[in-house]
Amino acid sequence: MRVQLLPSTFDSQGQATSDQRLTCFLIDECVAVDAGSIALALTPEQREQVRDIIVTHPHMDHIASLPIFIDDLFETLTSPVRVYATPEVIDLLERDIFNWNVYPRFSELKNEHGPVMEYVPIPTGKEFRIAHLTVTAVAVNHIVPTVGLLVSDGKSTVAFSSDTAETDEFWNLINRAPGIDALLVETSFPDSMAKLAEVSRHFTPASLQRDLRKLNHNGLDILAVHIKPAYRKLVIEELQALNVPRLGVMEPGKTYSW
Ligand SMILES: [Zn+2]
Ligand SMILES: [Zn+2]
Repeated sequence: MRVQLLPSTFDSQGQATSDQRLTCFLIDECVAVDAGSIALALTPEQREQVRDIIVTHPHMDHIASLPIFIDDLFETLTSPVRVYATPEVIDLLERDIFNWNVYPRFSELKNEHGPVMEYVPIPTGKEFRIAHLTVTAVAVNHIVPTVGLLVSDGKSTVAFSSDTAETDEFWNLINRAPGIDALLVETSFPDSMAKLAEVSRHFTPASLQRDLRKLNHNGLDILAVHIKPAYRKLVIEELQALNVPRLGVMEPGKTYSW
């Protein structure tokens, strides 16, 4: 499975910077996990292929350019953009984003080929299929309804924590899997901001280390994501000091294969 964390900011030469402000992972060039930077960073080829988008929760950094993505494609779509989310998250997207005020309610609009956007409600704790992938979503511990994901293509398996603080179900889900190749896990704040991390339900390196003790698998790649750009250097130093085997930081723009 190939996974790319799409970049969300670019330097003056147009190169992706290592700061991550928005969240959007692209799996095998066709399925997106979250849609923060989806309209900003896809290549024209990827833009033609991505029609399946899983939204883990409705925070702006995870959906910022989803409306723009659909808007860009509106005239040319020959099949709807499918937005996979739990029923609670679908309700929030409809209430707060696609509400005719912030943006049009695309789920009610059609072009000459038919609907342009379709919601696909997803269960929690039960496998479902998206394209060639098998996905399981479970609730994680964030301030709005949010799911973490376990995604398999039949050969390799990758877990996405989404935004969370200490949690159990997500680790139980991973531990039940026969094997796991990579864990992409959020580490938003440095340890000195533990209080803010706690109230906003995010990990710091220290709280991540405590939660990683719940993980039974060994030998997987663990890549930190969702590091607040202002504290990136400090968070990386604190992560390195943990001495967790195969723990690194995911670089925006780079494609990883497992
Ligand atoms: Zn969030
Ligand atoms: Zn976030």
